[in-house]
Amino acid sequence: MAGDDKALQGSLFGDSPEESFVTEDLQKPNLNDISDLAEKDLVLDAEQRPRTRKDPISTDKKTLLKNPIQDNLEPSWSHHTLVEVELLTPVLKHYVELKKANPERILLYRLGDFFECFFEDAILLSQLLELTLTGKDGGKSIGRVPMAGIPHHAAERYCSELIRKGKSIALCDQLERTPSKGNLLKRGITRVLTPGTILEEELLTASRNNWLAAVIVEEKPQTKTFVWGFACADVSTGEFLVTQQESESELFQSLAQIEAAEILVSEHTKGANHSWCPRDIHVTKIGNTPFTYPEAEKRLKETYNLSNLDFLGLQEVPLAFRAAGGLLSYLNTTKPINGELKVSKESVPNLDLPKITFKNESLKLDAQTRRNLEITSTQRKGQFFGSLLWAIDQTLTAMGARCLRRWLENPLINIEKIKARQAIISWLVKQKHARKSLRKILKPMGDLERLAGRSSAGQSSPRDLIAIADGIERLPYLSRELPSKDAIGPNFIKDLAKVNPKLIEVASIIRESIIENPPLSLSDGGIIYDGVDKILDGLRNQIDDQEKWLNSQENIERKNSNIANLRLQYHRTFGYFLAVSKAKAKAVPEHWIRRQTLANEERFVTPVLKSREEKIFQLKARCTQREYDVFCQVREKVSKYTSEIRNAARAVAGLDAIVSLAEVAATNGYCQPEILEPLKTENKRILHLEDSRHPVVEQLLVNESFIPNDLRLGEGTELIILTGPNASGKSCYLRQIGLIQLLAQIGSWIPAKKARISIADQIFTRVGAVDDLAAGQSTFIVEMAETAYILHHATDRSLVLLDEIGRGTATYDGLSIAWAVSQFLAEILCSKTIFATHYHELNHLAKQIKNVENFQVLVEETGNDLLFLHRVVPGGANKSYGIEAARLAGVPKKVLNHAKKILHQLENGEGVKTITAKQISIKNSLTSAA
Ligand code: ADP
Repeated sequence: MAGDDKALQGSLFGDSPEESFVTEDLQKPNLNDISDLAEKDLVLDAEQRPRTRKDPISTDKKTLLKNPIQDNLEPSWSHHTLVEVELLTPVLKHYVELKKANPERILLYRLGDFFECFFEDAILLSQLLELTLTGKDGGKSIGRVPMAGIPHHAAERYCSELIRKGKSIALCDQLERTPSKGNLLKRGITRVLTPGTILEEELLTASRNNWLAAVIVEEKPQTKTFVWGFACADVSTGEFLVTQQESESELFQSLAQIEAAEILVSEHTKGANHSWCPRDIHVTKIGNTPFTYPEAEKRLKETYNLSNLDFLGLQEVPLAFRAAGGLLSYLNTTKPINGELKVSKESVPNLDLPKITFKNESLKLDAQTRRNLEITSTQRKGQFFGSLLWAIDQTLTAMGARCLRRWLENPLINIEKIKARQAIISWLVKQKHARKSLRKILKPMGDLERLAGRSSAGQSSPRDLIAIADGIERLPYLSRELPSKDAIGPNFIKDLAKVNPKLIEVASIIRESIIENPPLSLSDGGIIYDGVDKILDGLRNQIDDQEKWLNSQENIERKNSNIANLRLQYHRTFGYFLAVSKAKAKAVPEHWIRRQTLANEERFVTPVLKSREEKIFQLKARCTQREYDVFCQVREKVSKYTSEIRNAARAVAGLDAIVSLAEVAATNGYCQPEILEPLKTENKRILHLEDSRHPVVEQLLVNESFIPNDLRLGEGTELIILTGPNASGKSCYLRQIGLIQLLAQIGSWIPAKKARISIADQIFTRVGAVDDLAAGQSTFIVEMAETAYILHHATDRSLVLLDEIGRGTATYDGLSIAWAVSQFLAEILCSKTIFATHYHELNHLAKQIKNVENFQVLVEETGNDLLFLHRVVPGGANKSYGIEAARLAGVPKKVLNHAKKILHQLENGEGVKTITAKQISIKNSLTSAA
């Protein structure tokens, strides 16, 4: 049993910290020596002395940690390629061999209780994780080479930090407990962790998808077309989407939208910095072959065990097809088998079949609009707090949170789908009891979706399996609370009404074998119930016998020695020993051998005890190994049900998102908007809101209450010019309208008293002037680029929200641009548009164009003070109140007075030349202000 080829994956990163017998230097019995107990004897024993299920004894052992060596040497070799491999010690030689096969990854190599790095990786690791850089003897003629390491039990924490920093990791672990030949333990790659392929709970963000994307681009200079194929998969949830489209900016938008953790491109992809690739995304280059059509076809067929792929419809999108092939191939090579990385049928990931997503399936939100509307994070600090998702996320499970995020990122445009979600939300708003009960059932539910992912990859821990069983057992309770007679809502809600019997089977497979509260690690034993496996039962009987023998030995020695307080104890390094107090130590029998002296205690062993101890170790190790094998069998059985678990998980995730929206609607005083079919001309641009509020700001205001406002767009009004001084609430109103449109299109209720909303195809925003310094672009250029994008893409079904266009240049330039843009939107594009501006001159447009109306945010001037009323009312403001705003911001009174004088002259129609000629002195202004 020892020396087998299975990686000792106690936890996902190796054995638990408590486990000691995997280190090379500890003196533990050789497991090969077990010869006296044949399996048939154990089975016989189990049959004669059957064991019944009970909770096993907790294994409460203390961790013994080595301290990292504090030896701070200057590295003598800075790169693994610089050393002469033949001269290295065997361990380092192996390290360099593996490193050559994984040059792009940080190679963490298990040595005893540590994962170590050498050469350049050691230097990098010490910098990234702020670890001490030490050294290790590299061989006689080589001297010391740099080394840095992390304790193996803390590997998950450190790896998650490396992944967050965009690094990929290859973990090389021990593949055997004792050396099968020579002195060196067999080691091999047991895990490859890259930002886009991780499955470990600790490394993933629970509330968001972790997308791995593959991109193929083709530029055709003759036709000036840019075609791209795109595949993205979340290996932790099994989702797999592909698409093929045109235009560089569309590709940029798609990549920005999913916020991919890692993007795969072929090494032939030209140019280092692609304008279609958002910055800060981890790009991994792989060979070109997996991206070729025949190779992709082969990979897809092998992965899904299909002989024909026609039904997938991917022939129509050849670049997407090739991207999917490249992605699957990469996933395949990040799954080691027996310590080696090679493409093979065995290690294909368990993903859904690739699903084509089409361009016009959801409400389109470009990257700028997503940022401006602060959908999942705030614009300034990039925080979740203060975003729309923050305001409406009352989900109780991680899968529900991810689902709600996905809905917000891809709002619907299909009226039937929107209405289906509305129907179940409305039912739940009214059925308070059902809503509360569902929330109680959902709350403790594990992340079934990712649990299924780990199960399919054969990486479930015992606790994962228990969480799967627990989740499944909650399903009937969920269905009991849902409307049964007239099934309403999306299909996934209807599916939940009846629990798939196969799932019940999985739960019972788990429940019959795995104990209720298994330990974290696989290597401690105590996972499998008594009565499940006869060999295991036999081994446990034998261990019980030995325990009894130990007890009797304690009594015998106590009696023989006459030491009443003698105790027989165990220490992980010294094994079994007899402990007596210092005072009694002198009176111990002669055959006792002193082992250890403590302050108040002396510890002894006896020859009988020592020889028995070896047997007990052998038995325990064999028992743990058997448990591991039985556990693997159960895990394997459960993995066969991945798709059933996954389907249930997705339905539960959707339900959680629905219940969350109902909860928010009920507690925040939202209303159900009437959704209008946009293809009917009379509905086309209707957006009527009564007493609408900003879903986030209303929750953030502390001492004030939010002032609700109305909106009437459509039925003759397509463009609203919104004027009002700074800080009156224009931006807030614009964002509020955008967010309400978005919420309505995920099927949610909205913060308003009453609403009629026609479905929009896209929302565009241009809010605030922010210099994109990192991209080296000035405010005005950014502003114009965004405006150009809107004018090129908006349609008569789009909602366009513009804030302060033309601000970044000279007044007349700016005003002219703002004027022309407004006219283009109102007369040519006819989009639903609100244009907030401090150019009150734009109010003249309403007189000139039929579908333009003026609105203003009211302020009250009381003496020298401005009172912000935050009320949006018909009519245009006749001044900008810029000087009043400057005063509120603390500009000195003298400067304000001077500004007022100049403004007065300008408003009287005097040009700059006349004013200069008059030579109005600032000194005069100063005196008059004094
Ligand atoms: P503007 O775009 O006109 O400069 P903002 O939209 O930034 O003004 O609003 C300024 C502040 O006024 C916001 O931070 C918000 O706290 C407050 N505010 C805006 N609208 C309202 C409202 N309807 N009710 C209450 N406070 C509001």
